[in-house]
Amino acid sequence: MHSAIINDTTLRDGEQTAGVAFTVAEKCAIAKALSDAGVPELEVGIPTMGQAEIETINCIAAMGLSSRLMVWGRMCEADIAAALECDVDIIHLSIPASDIHLQHKLQQTREWALDQVAYYVSAVHEAGHEVSVGFEDASRADPLFLAQLAVQAQRAGARRIRFADTLGVLDPFSTYEAIARLRAVVGIEIEIHAHNDLGLATANTLAALRAGATHANTTVNGLGERAGNAALEEVVMSLRHLHGLDCGVRTTDLVAISQLVARASGHPVAANKSIVGEAVFTHESGIHVDGLLKNPSNYEGFDPAEVGRERRTVLGKHSGSRAVRVAYQALGLPVIDPQVPSLLERIRTHAVNTKRAPTSDDLQRFFLEASATQGQPS
Ligand code: MN
Repeated sequence: MHSAIINDTTLRDGEQTAGVAFTVAEKCAIAKALSDAGVPELEVGIPTMGQAEIETINCIAAMGLSSRLMVWGRMCEADIAAALECDVDIIHLSIPASDIHLQHKLQQTREWALDQVAYYVSAVHEAGHEVSVGFEDASRADPLFLAQLAVQAQRAGARRIRFADTLGVLDPFSTYEAIARLRAVVGIEIEIHAHNDLGLATANTLAALRAGATHANTTVNGLGERAGNAALEEVVMSLRHLHGLDCGVRTTDLVAISQLVARASGHPVAANKSIVGEAVFTHESGIHVDGLLKNPSNYEGFDPAEVGRERRTVLGKHSGSRAVRVAYQALGLPVIDPQVPSLLERIRTHAVNTKRAPTSDDLQRFFLEASATQGQPS
């Protein structure tokens, strides 16, 4: 894997999440944050939704961001006409690739799909625009037919094809095979659009890049239809740590962008969400805390500072005596070794009863109780 270009679709598929609707100001703020962080491409909306959406897209375009901008449309006259009203770099045209979608959604044949690609992609390309062709439900398409569609798109002048695992039904092995088959028949860019219905969107995205895909479609916090898409922060950090690949995105911006999108979408981030979750650098268990104190790399795959975070340890049911001594030292309280077991017991009872870590005040209270029972340390 030599390179991977991120195309972030928080403002398109991310906004398609049920119940999510960004204001113009929110869309502009998210676009600016992503662009400032170095995300090279942004998919910013669906022009055929109407004039308000077109105006929003053109507001983003007028900001002069360094990211290249893409808009999404179906492969038909109306969507193309709307897309052409937007001042963007790439027009993405989507067409179903599976027989299920062709027959049961559009009542159309494979020949019809091939003709549509030849006609519309040529027309938009010859009018001087960059075209990306999306194959919807590509994962359930006949691989031979999908290859025909890809070749047709390349011949018609598309600069890119997008493989959409629309329902999130692939695993990394089947993704690798599907992308490798396309890589063998076309020389143009290939983008992976993975959904997370089985929790595999990031893994499938990495597999696609390994098989020869050039672009990865992501969303902040993994926002997107149903279970969402491959998360920007996961793909960026995985590429960096598993493949030594810097995709140009400033990782110290990821948490702030995550929080911005969480607020604007009304979808809070789970505490244990990879990379950006509030609790993912917090440690409690005695074995882990002791190991971290000896050397952080014992229990950290990467330094939290890479994403502008700090490791945190809390006391709880699984704490050990070392963590107790360290916590009391930090509070400046003179705990002596014979007091540690009873303090640890008190902390464990507190954790079980309250389901939360003790605060500094709690720890001071436990110390006073223990000292009263056992006598003041000399
Ligand atoms: Mn999608």
